[in-house]
Amino acid sequence: MDTMSPQQRHKNMAAIRSADTKPEMTVRRWLHSRGFRYRLNHPRLPGHPDIVLRKYRTCIFVNGCFWHGHEGCRYFRLPKTNVDFWRTKIERNRERDRRDYQALARLGWHTIVIWECSLKPASVCQRTLESLEQTLYHIYLADREVGNGPSRALEYPVRGEEDGGDGKMVAEQ
Ligand SMILES: [Zn+2]
Repeated sequence: MDTMSPQQRHKNMAAIRSADTKPEMTVRRWLHSRGFRYRLNHPRLPGHPDIVLRKYRTCIFVNGCFWHGHEGCRYFRLPKTNVDFWRTKIERNRERDRRDYQALARLGWHTIVIWECSLKPASVCQRTLESLEQTLYHIYLADREVGNGPSRALEYPVRGEEDGGDGKMVAEQ
């Protein structure tokens, strides 16, 4: 039996959500330290990606394993009460995520999902961030087909951020 009032549940969920911002900060701080520049929570892109690297045509989502239903993950365990409620809720989140990633792909964006479980402990986190960097360089080179004539990237402008310019990029404090 679930003894939480809707207000209590809302409060608990908000607390869990805000705790989820810590993994995102880890990724942001690291990207910034490595010289990557980005925008946050782009309002006009599907799913409001946590981190947008325009130069790499890449959106990064740092996903909490519970809320986004990370299959087979130790952090994704449905609460023992109200199982159906949670199952439905998480499944809905997963469907929304899939739709957002597909919509971004149609607009010409790469999507990288980083699960919170891949950011701890520190040794695992280091490997994840190093492989993120490799992935970003790979994307950059593949988009431009270095050594294969003129840049194809120019033929496929990214869409969805109509205000375009890099002037609004966020620099980490
Ligand atoms: Zn996970």
